[in-house]
Amino acid sequence: MAYLSESDKKFLLESIRDIPDFPKPGIVFKDITTLLNNKQAFSLLIDHLEKRYKEYDLDYIAGIESRGFIFGSALAARLEIGFVPIRKKGKLPYTTVAEKYSLEYGFDEIEVHIDAFGHKKGAKVLLIDDLIATGGTAVAAANLINKVEAECIEACFLIGLKFLKGEEKLKDITKVYTILEID
Ligand code: AMP
Repeated sequence: MAYLSESDKKFLLESIRDIPDFPKPGIVFKDITTLLNNKQAFSLLIDHLEKRYKEYDLDYIAGIESRGFIFGSALAARLEIGFVPIRKKGKLPYTTVAEKYSLEYGFDEIEVHIDAFGHKKGAKVLLIDDLIATGGTAVAAANLINKVEAECIEACFLIGLKFLKGEEKLKDITKVYTILEID
């Protein structure tokens, strides 16, 4: 099983920019655009993900809107497997299956196309996003994959905000791999 060295983790972490008070006061936003436009950092990340996941015999990568699309589609192309977008409600044009999840105020909903993972039951899927915070979005996405009779084998995040304990919730549903843990 492939893991990153501490020095590679440090390099990736330093390529991500912190934006205080975005999108609202008190939130430190992890801006990954500075990792994406750094060719060494982006290649290091995708090389690592390829090395780890080529051993998994996956059928699909599912990415969560919108930054999960970037890492997920780059990895899917490397692994020569399909990519499936999990989107906010109302964006996907064909028949969808939806899952609601709670936010601090109210709720949100994500969707996937009903036939996104083919017609064979039990397709092996890796879920991917840039960051796990409270885990609400990822739990809903993993439930959605299982709801359409595919199998969420593992969920992968570049960054985990450990103090929000999102991974603990998600671990009841699927395995979790977080590259950079932030205390
Ligand atoms: P959550 O459902 O609370 O785990 O939130 C995860 C989603 O919100 C992911 O799609 C992240 O991209 C985004 N997100 C939450 N907190 C942050 C943050 N501090 N910096 C960047 N993105 C965030």
